[in-house]
Amino acid sequence: MEPRSRTVAILAPIGSDGEITSRMLARVGLTSRVCRDLSETTRCIAEGAGVVLVTEEALGREARAELGLALDAQAPWSDLPVVVLLAEGELSRAIAPGVAQLAARGNVTLLERPVRLATLVTTLRSALRARERQYDVRDSIAERAAAADELRESEARLRAAVDGAPYPLMLHADDGTVLQLSRAWSALSGYRPNELATTRDWTQRAFRDRADAVDSEIRADFDESDTNAPSPRALGERVVHTKDGEGRVWDFQSVILGRLPDGRRLRLVAARDVTDYRRLLESERAARQDAEKANRAKMDFLAVMSHELRTPLNAIGGYTQLLELGIHGPVTEPQRSALARIRRSEAHLLGLIEDVLNFAKIEAGRVTFDLKPVPVTELVSEVDALVEPQMREKSIVYTRHDAPDAAAMVDEEKTRQVLLNLLSNAVKFTPAGGNIAVSFETRDGEVDISITDTGSGIPLEKQEAIFEPFVQVQRAYTSTQGGTGLGLAISRDLARAMGGDLRVRSEPEHGSTFVLTLPRAEE
Ligand code: ADP
Repeated sequence: MEPRSRTVAILAPIGSDGEITSRMLARVGLTSRVCRDLSETTRCIAEGAGVVLVTEEALGREARAELGLALDAQAPWSDLPVVVLLAEGELSRAIAPGVAQLAARGNVTLLERPVRLATLVTTLRSALRARERQYDVRDSIAERAAAADELRESEARLRAAVDGAPYPLMLHADDGTVLQLSRAWSALSGYRPNELATTRDWTQRAFRDRADAVDSEIRADFDESDTNAPSPRALGERVVHTKDGEGRVWDFQSVILGRLPDGRRLRLVAARDVTDYRRLLESERAARQDAEKANRAKMDFLAVMSHELRTPLNAIGGYTQLLELGIHGPVTEPQRSALARIRRSEAHLLGLIEDVLNFAKIEAGRVTFDLKPVPVTELVSEVDALVEPQMREKSIVYTRHDAPDAAAMVDEEKTRQVLLNLLSNAVKFTPAGGNIAVSFETRDGEVDISITDTGSGIPLEKQEAIFEPFVQVQRAYTSTQGGTGLGLAISRDLARAMGGDLRVRSEPEHGSTFVLTLPRAEE
């Protein structure tokens, strides 16, 4: 369908006149629509007709008034062309006053009949082109209005975003004018926007005697930033003096944001009030220090106490021995067996105290390590000889796999202590008739010594806890077996202090494997 703006609305008084004209125009390629009366014509105009062709006869008084009103009611961009066919010879006489009035109100072209077809077609075509241009104007006005609306909206959005940002934001120009502040800026600093018209107002109030330094930082920020390719800068933390005299710590960031239409450069400053966060960190640090101090005091107490306990225990041991030797007179057999019990209990107690003392020393960092290359075979063979009697007693099958020809860079004495602890545990927690095996694995820079048993195993959720001091999986059971729950804590501490580690893999009911990793000595 032809656009409406290319349609000729024909208003002819006598039925067939309009049809004849329409067919004539169709032959030269012009679309038209015949309107029977003026109200149809105005509808046609409202729908966007490109031009109205009307004969003078059709323009009675009423029709003229109505057409005049329709023309007056046009939008500002619209100036609908009207071509009036006058009666023959009218132009040479005088134009009827009504028609003249209409011509004065609108974009009216008068053609006197008889009109040559060529003249009519040319007139109509140029009217249609003019109408087409009016539509173009309308469209570009609409586009511009839409663009202006959009701009207004996006400005409002930006303004609202800065205003309502949940942290302090300030937008200012390089001449020092503050253009906008977020509400959070005012709320946190206590200064109202009208008290902060310039950046100087802000720096003097917030930074007092450091204002000059901050001002020159702002200038440097402008000078050193590339306005075309801005990148945010972290300015760090500063103490801001709020209006009610409090000193709060703000963490500042800035970015240069191009230029205003008048050429001034824009800078956006964002801040985060980190006062509470800093206080929290500070109190956490103090709490940690307190805890460390308390822990040190506890360890000191343990060290002193176990040391003090050793002295009387040694005395008990010493005097028992003297009694056994009969120094204070003859000893009967029942007395001898009682003395032996005293000695065993004394030795056991001394062992426990030794553990506590060792642990306290390691925790306090008071243990020194004498690291040197020790062949792996040597480490194990001496230790398993120590537990051999207990294994035999429980009919445990012991297997030591071939040790590699490697050396570990360790403190020999302490590594033996760790291995003894692991093997003793294996014996302690493996029922009679079970198996214990020691195997080795070397890697780049490390050697693993694994002690596997077919004992009670350790539930998964306890596998980390057993390395904590004083943790025992089954207290009832272990109390009959003796022990403090310190062995593994001491062993792991020792292993790690030598640059190694101690880990466990275990399946309850099936057994456990403790893997001692040691650093290898360079060959
Ligand atoms: P202790 O042997 O003096 O109780 P440890 O620190 O050596 O202390 O061991 C802590 C706990 O870990 C033991 O009480 C026991 O519950 C568990 N445990 C250690 N070794 C084994 C093992 N080979 N098999 C099963 N449980 C073990």
